Amino acid sequence: MKKALLVVDYTVDFVAKDGALTCGQPGIDLETYITNLTETFINEEEFVVFPVDVHDIEDPYHPETKSFPPHNICGTAGRDLYGTVQDVYLKHKDNIHWMDKTRFSAFAGTNLELLLRARQITEIHIVGVCTDICILHTSVDAYNKGFDIVIHEKGVASFNQTGHEWALNHFENTLGAKVIR
Ligand code: ZN
Repeated sequence: MKKALLVVDYTVDFVAKDGALTCGQPGIDLETYITNLTETFINEEEFVVFPVDVHDIEDPYHPETKSFPPHNICGTAGRDLYGTVQDVYLKHKDNIHWMDKTRFSAFAGTNLELLLRARQITEIHIVGVCTDICILHTSVDAYNKGFDIVIHEKGVASFNQTGHEWALNHFENTLGAKVIR
């Protein structure tokens, strides 16, 4: 079975202590796990995608403008990957598919589904942030499109611990995902 790894939104704005919309320590704690998992998938020649949020400053037409402070603004350092995940990305740039996304789900308005179907990939592993926002919305879309979902508990975090735990249960009990604990 062919599989893919999605590393979602592991950027300075979402992870660093002074990030614009940060998960803080729970996000920072994922750094080594995500770095190692990315290396593993690349060594196994599996498809690795980095779907990364991108926004224009104060876009009046974007629905997130109402709910969240500005984050991952195009061309800013806040949109760089965090820590060693940035290093692993630069090291394996030729084998990692960078994907700009403008909505919570990595499937919304992107060609992600086409890329997965073209490679006959049926199983999607997801890590990154936030468990109850972008990981959740990406997983719901993956579920509706019929992909098998694997969530790595050590690879996901949120600024909302209650939301994080709720989402892990939802992946397992409602979306039928495998949650690697
Ligand atoms: Zn956003």
